[in-house]
Amino acid sequence: MVRVARVVANSIGEELGVVPGTELLAVNGRALADFLDWEFLTADDELAIEARLPDGEEVIYEIERSDGDTLGIELEPPSVRRCANRCEFCFIEGLPKGLRKNLYIRDDDYRLSFAYGNFATLSNMKERDEQRIIEYRLSPLYVSVHATPWEARRVLLNNPRVPNIVDQLTRLAEHGIQFHCQMVIVPGLNDGAVLEQSLTDLWALDDAVLSVAVVPVGLTQFSHLYTGESMSAERASELLDGVDRWSRRASAERGDPWVFGSDELYLLAGRALPGPDHYGDYAQIENGVGAVTSLRERVRAGVTALPRLDGRRIGVVTGTSMAPLMPDLLAQLESATGASFVLIPTINSLFGPTTTTAGLLVGADIRRALEGRHDLDLALIPAETINDAGLFLDDERFIVVRESLPMPVYPSYDFMDVLSLEGDAVRVGAGERAA
Ligand code: SF4
Repeated sequence: MVRVARVVANSIGEELGVVPGTELLAVNGRALADFLDWEFLTADDELAIEARLPDGEEVIYEIERSDGDTLGIELEPPSVRRCANRCEFCFIEGLPKGLRKNLYIRDDDYRLSFAYGNFATLSNMKERDEQRIIEYRLSPLYVSVHATPWEARRVLLNNPRVPNIVDQLTRLAEHGIQFHCQMVIVPGLNDGAVLEQSLTDLWALDDAVLSVAVVPVGLTQFSHLYTGESMSAERASELLDGVDRWSRRASAERGDPWVFGSDELYLLAGRALPGPDHYGDYAQIENGVGAVTSLRERVRAGVTALPRLDGRRIGVVTGTSMAPLMPDLLAQLESATGASFVLIPTINSLFGPTTTTAGLLVGADIRRALEGRHDLDLALIPAETINDAGLFLDDERFIVVRESLPMPVYPSYDFMDVLSLEGDAVRVGAGERAA
């Protein structure tokens, strides 16, 4: 059963009398277990939908629709599948106490892997789930492999019942399912020979594995389960040597690098990031692979179209890992706009100084970084720090933080999104400060 959250005005759903709270039970005789069933079973143009209205009345909606007519029925969010593992490096286990409840949910859900690109380990899958993936062609999936040798994966996932990932991927690949994989590397556990074996196994799956990201373990000061070492510059460099060797082979044999080091790995190793050609269509950009290069490209492509902002002083708040890469970008922005940009590297007060990612800065950090800066006309903060509800990870509201600061503050993904508003944001900003 799935439940209706909203019915779009003037839609088929409204015409039929579907209302929020209606339970949708079956489509064309097949029971509905979740949003996936709904999405796929309602793809036909002739539908018999069995439903139960909020007052308990059971009805059957018979629908014949033309191509392209949508039902206009939106479902309540699905309940996510919980993770059966207990990885020592789990970011959720590294969260401090007292944050909002839903941040502590450890999901491991192949359905969200397909729908939203969330990584899943597939370790809680049943045979029925594999059948659904095949029937609905849920491809590509985003899979946290970490290691293919069973013993290493069992230790990494801290789960004695973890299934054999190569067998799982092979069964799905035989039915045309493809994967983007990630390997979170814990020094001493799945680097070296284990990584080599894992890449060999994934390579053998041929074009079923579209890409592999090699990501260093990320820890906070609260990662209480973790007993391993943190990622050093030397180890990051060794990992990149292996990645380079495999990506040269893949480029020669398949025409694309196939395996990618995450941006953080390059930053840790102190190595230059590859250029845009290396990343192709940036398949794992959400996983921090190629994000810096993509940002550089967007600035390079858009900077000459920016309006003049002579005399303005613009603060740029960022995390400590991105800070060394910023001066070059800010120099381009200064030269194109005439504004001066002030870089404000900021330490993460919630997760501790080992958490250097800009997107994990919290409201208190932004406030601390900017509260004394009466010299700025405007400040840009990483847009990734704020969720759809306008909240930072520490539950501070963006609008409350912004109102407490002496300058207008704008969330920005790539500078262009704010500065290219023909200067409006910046001009308004200056006016607000003067007032
Ligand atoms: S798979 Fe591991 S890292 Fe992912 S949510 Fe589960 S315990 Fe955490």
